[in-house]
Parts: sequence; structure tokens; C-alpha cells
Amino acid sequence: MKAKLLIAILPFAGIILLILIILTIIASLFGSDTAFYQSYFVLPFDTNTYTITSPYGERIDPINNEKSFHSGIDVVPTSSNIVAIADGTVVVSEVQESGGESVIIEHKLGGQVYRSGYHHMKENSRTVKVGDVVKQGQQIGIMGATGRVTGPHLHFSLQKFNASSQKFEYTDPSIVINNNISAKEYNLYDYDNNKPFDNDKLHPELRDPYYTPPTLKP
Ligand SMILES: [Zn+2]
Repeated sequence: MKAKLLIAILPFAGIILLILIILTIIASLFGSDTAFYQSYFVLPFDTNTYTITSPYGERIDPINNEKSFHSGIDVVPTSSNIVAIADGTVVVSEVQESGGESVIIEHKLGGQVYRSGYHHMKENSRTVKVGDVVKQGQQIGIMGATGRVTGPHLHFSLQKFNASSQKFEYTDPSIVINNNISAKEYNLYDYDNNKPFDNDKLHPELRDPYYTPPTLKP
């Protein structure tokens, strides 16, 4: 009886599978960057409440009042824990004159190569070095005001590799921010013990007055 039912269902399952495959192909052909970013990136901090204080693109520089290109966005989250937006490898971890405490992570996602940048972090708060493999949601530092700044914020940038020019090019990272992938989606990662974040045990040296525990995936 059960076998008969299975045989009766089988052709339908095949049709459903075929439809799913066709839909996936269509989605990949017409898929927007938004859908791509939604599936691969989370917010660069462990909260979904934040204020964007300066957008990407041409702007009047807040320090010298001259017209300049702002290569990322300035954002102030309500939690100062800065996290990796996706799995990747650290390609820059240094103190820069203008960027202050900076980390850049390279991500190979869906056949594309991206670099996400996190700047002006708190002095000595970087937890990763060049070559480190990081997990999405892994804490890489604390928001601060190092480098060329007027106040504490995260300068967050996104670069995409252009195969024809063989160069990384800046792209507007606000799409990652505006997707507003909930803090509930975060899977903060304890990279020392290779398991999800244990709030009580991990990074006691990183705790600061603004520390808020992350919401873990069930
Ligand atoms: Zn900035």
C-alpha cells in the first residue's frame, strides 16, 4: 500500500523538482544584488539598531570642508561590537593614518570576490590578524574613534572585484545595511573553541560599558 502511494507520488515529485530547478535558474539570471547581499551578508555589528551619519559617495568632507569621495558609509550602532559581515579571510589588519584601527576581510561568495572594510575601531581592539579565517558574525573589534574622525563611528566599506579591470572597486555598502538582517540572524562565533559564541566566556577583555549580549540562532 505504502509502495503504491510512493509510486503514485513519484512523478509529481519529479515535476516539482523540475519547477524548482527552473525557478533557481531564472532567479540566478535575474537575481539582483539585493537578493545576493541578503543571502550572504549580515550587519557589521551585533544589533539591528543604528544611525547612518554619513552616506556613500560625493560629500563635503567634515574635517576640511572640501568636496571628496566617501568610499564607505559612517554608521553608529547601539552596540559597539563590530563583526564580520560574512565568512572570509583577513587581508588587512593594521593601524592606518586616516582609517585608524582597520580590518579588511576578503569574501569569496557566489562566484564573486568582495572585500569588507571596518575602520576607526577602538585602540587595540582588533581581534584578528592578516591570514586569519573568520566566520560570519565573528567579532573583529570594537567601534571607536581612531584615525581621521570627528567622533566615534564605524566607517564601513564594500569593494567588489571587477574581472575586466582586475581591480577591487568600491560599491555602496548601504545595501548591506539597509537589508537590516536582524540581529536574531547572527551566529556570533567563538573562534577559539570553534563553536557559537558563549557570552559568559568569550573575550572578557573586549567587554566595555556598551556591551550587549548577542541573540543567538536557536
Ligand atoms: Zn567614513
